[in-house]
Order: sequence, then C-alpha cells, then structure tokens
Amino acid sequence: MIVHLKQGVGEKGLEKVLNKAEEIGICSSQLDISQGDTCVIGIKGDTSKVNEQSFENMSEVEKVIRITEKWKALSKKFHPEYSVIELPNGVKVGKDLVIIAGPCAVESYEQVLETAKIVKAAGANALRGGAYKPRTSRLDFQGLEEEGLNILARVKKETGLPIVTEIMDKEDIPLFEKYGVDIYQVGARNCQNFRLLKALSRIDKPVLLKRGSGITLNEYLNAADYIYSGNGKANPKVILCERGDKSYDPEHRNVLNINNIVYLKKECHLPVIADPSHAGGKRDMVISLAKASIAAGADGLIVEVHYDPDNALCDGAQSLTKPYFSRLVKDIDKIFRAR
Ligand code: PEP
Ligand code: MN
Repeated sequence: MIVHLKQGVGEKGLEKVLNKAEEIGICSSQLDISQGDTCVIGIKGDTSKVNEQSFENMSEVEKVIRITEKWKALSKKFHPEYSVIELPNGVKVGKDLVIIAGPCAVESYEQVLETAKIVKAAGANALRGGAYKPRTSRLDFQGLEEEGLNILARVKKETGLPIVTEIMDKEDIPLFEKYGVDIYQVGARNCQNFRLLKALSRIDKPVLLKRGSGITLNEYLNAADYIYSGNGKANPKVILCERGDKSYDPEHRNVLNINNIVYLKKECHLPVIADPSHAGGKRDMVISLAKASIAAGADGLIVEVHYDPDNALCDGAQSLTKPYFSRLVKDIDKIFRAR
C-alpha cells in the first residue's frame, strides 16, 4: 500500500501519519519512507486487513494506492494452483468440463424429469432449476418454493444428477439442506447481499456466485471473498459465474463479458463458469456465446434447457430444445479438449 502525503505537510504531518500507522498495528519495519517533492510512505507485507480509510480520512494525505487487493485469498499470486471442487457424482469443477443444465424454473415433476433426461443423455453433469425465482414483477411466476425443492430432490434420486438451485434468503438454508441441494446458486441480483453471503460462508456446500449486473471485478471478487474467507468459518467451495451486464442496446438481454472470464482465470484460482442463456436472452444466441466462453477459458457452463420451451413459465425464449442442447455439448466438448 502506498500513502501519498500532501505537499507541504512537513515533518509534523509525516509524524502524525506514522503515529496512525503504529496505532493500527503496522510495524516500523514494514514502512519505507521516501522524501521528494512530496512524501510517499510505502507499507510492505500483508496489508489486506489494513483499512485504507484510516489514512484517506487524514487531512495530511493526498491519496492511498492499494497494491494488494483485499481479496488476496482468491488471488493466484498467493495461491497459484487452481481450486477444484468435487461434486457428489465425482465431477471436478475447475478440472473437468462442467455442464449444468435444466429449466429456468421448476414447474412440475414431469417438466423437470423430462428435461433432466434430455440434458443427461446429451452430456450434462448437473441439473439446474429455480424453486425460488427473483422476478422483476410480483405478478410473474415466483417459483414453487419448497415444492420445487422437493421435485428437484426426487429428480436427483431418479437421474443421479447433482442439483443446483438459487437461494435468495438465508432463512431458507435449512430447507436447502433438507432437500439435499448440491450447489447453492446466488443470483446476479443478490451478488452483493452481504448477509446472505456471510451465511453461505458457514455452510459446507459449493456456492455458485453469479456476477451482479454492472458491478466491477473488484466488487465481484470482494463479494466472493465474503464466502471464501468468511468470518470465523469459511467456505472455500466458491464457483464464479459470468452472466453479462445490462446493455444500452435493447437487442441484447445482457452482454456477456468475455474479458471477465479471461481476467478471472488469470488472476483468481476459483473455478469460473459462464451463463450464455441469461446473456443471450434468445435461443439462437446461446450456442455461440457458450463456445466463446469455453474458448476464453471458462471451466463450464450453466444453460437453460426446457422440454417444451413454448410453454415455459419463465425464460422460454432462451431455453434450448433437445437438438440445440445436444449440438452445444458436442461443440463445446471439442473446444474444451482442444485448449
Ligand atoms: C437464473 O439463473 O435463473 C437467474 C435468475 O439468473 P441471473 O441471476 O443471472 O439473472
Ligand atoms: Mn432464467
């Protein structure tokens, strides 16, 4: 961390800032003081717990530059090996190609089972389906809630596919445990719901954290660190997911940020998957976005598939039919093996 003092603060100003450093637990051996036109103090060693505001608030300080990010625990600089998260069916997220597929929302036992059979036969290795749906309007289908979790649990038993479903409220954790949810999905809208993230740092199941629309990588990785590093208890099983940002262009539901996939794989050791469905918004966009994501280094995908998308209660237009999904799996498998 670098603390840049204002011009003309003199010895007195420097002393005040050094006293502050001592007060917040920084040893003198960590400090490098450089006097030029202005005075610059370098703070060496682990500064992840130093709050830059302690210095920024001082009238003697011009600016504070953080060199080591607060999400240091997620950084490849300090953890060069990629993290691998094993699912109950043996799939290793972060190593194997993971394909999570299924309907946007759980609508009925028949709908989830028929869709699960399609995705399993085509090569998916986990099943998605929302029981609690974050909808823009209260008038839209909100999900079957506990009944939806029950359906997912029954289909898991029938097909052996691990189940992935969205959690919106920490109060629902006991229900998710009861129905054996394998991956707890945090949706884009709740990416920075810090009380939810803190609660998920205390469970021992993988958490799929979607990037909130419009938030920066720094904000996203700090959100992930709430789960990964926790407070007291930590949950290292975090899977990142790029799902795009809102666009100024009404032609796109969201714009998938391929740069982010490349950055996250370069800077962070956690597995990264992409959601081409909520980015594309339309069925005929999904395969190309999926291929681009895998080519960019994503460890897998979460894709919406429906056995009868014309009659889906949620996101039918972007849900893939059986032939589209089979094509997608074949195409991305080739790209994954060629990397
Ligand atoms: C979903 O996966 O069904 C969903 C609501 O996605 P997002 O949180 O990315 O909008
Ligand atoms: Mn959806």
